[in-house]
Amino acid sequence: MKCLDLTLAIIKPNATKVPHVVKAIRDRILRCGFFVVRTSEVQLSIKEAEEFYKEHKGKFFYERLSSFLASGPVHVHILAGVNSIILWRRILGPARVYQAKAEYPNSIRALYGVTDTRNSAHGSDSEQSALREIHFFFPNFDIDNWRSNEECYFQSCQVKLKEKEFIHEICPSIRA
Ligand code: ADP
Ligand code: MG
Repeated sequence: MKCLDLTLAIIKPNATKVPHVVKAIRDRILRCGFFVVRTSEVQLSIKEAEEFYKEHKGKFFYERLSSFLASGPVHVHILAGVNSIILWRRILGPARVYQAKAEYPNSIRALYGVTDTRNSAHGSDSEQSALREIHFFFPNFDIDNWRSNEECYFQSCQVKLKEKEFIHEICPSIRA
């Protein structure tokens, strides 16, 4: 069975405040075959947002980007899937919204992004970033434990979506 990659997806504040956009992005996540391993709604402080985006410190958009990320709730998801890191970034489209609209008009950022800062969603750009970002938002999530005890149920699709929580859980009959 193929190993599932884990990636971190963030639905940014310009999108979380519009329920139909949240629904559309969630539908897209499911349609593209990702499993949702964890979901959380978080209100970051500016300090936390600066820490999350610290690789961009010194760039002209860093303060703007950090204060935007802290401007409202974000929805954070750990997504699992074959090549999920690459696939989720492909579905997101480029960071620059005008480029996304011109070149990838069906991408999430083209459809729901407003500006380069308010571009609606985030995705980890490498396995190393995914580990850091998952730990940032889910410090108690133990990846080794998930691989040992849960990944096999996702690989064999023995999971079902809890719609309201937007999380896939291992089918209760199997767990029992
Ligand atoms: P990505 O989010 O695709 O990994 P980057 O890591 O390069 O892109 O940038 C992080 C975020 O910073 C982007 O999602 C976008 O919101 C913002 N950003 C990137 N480049 C610019 C820019 N030139 N002007 C304004 N905001 C930018
Ligand atoms: Mg990035």
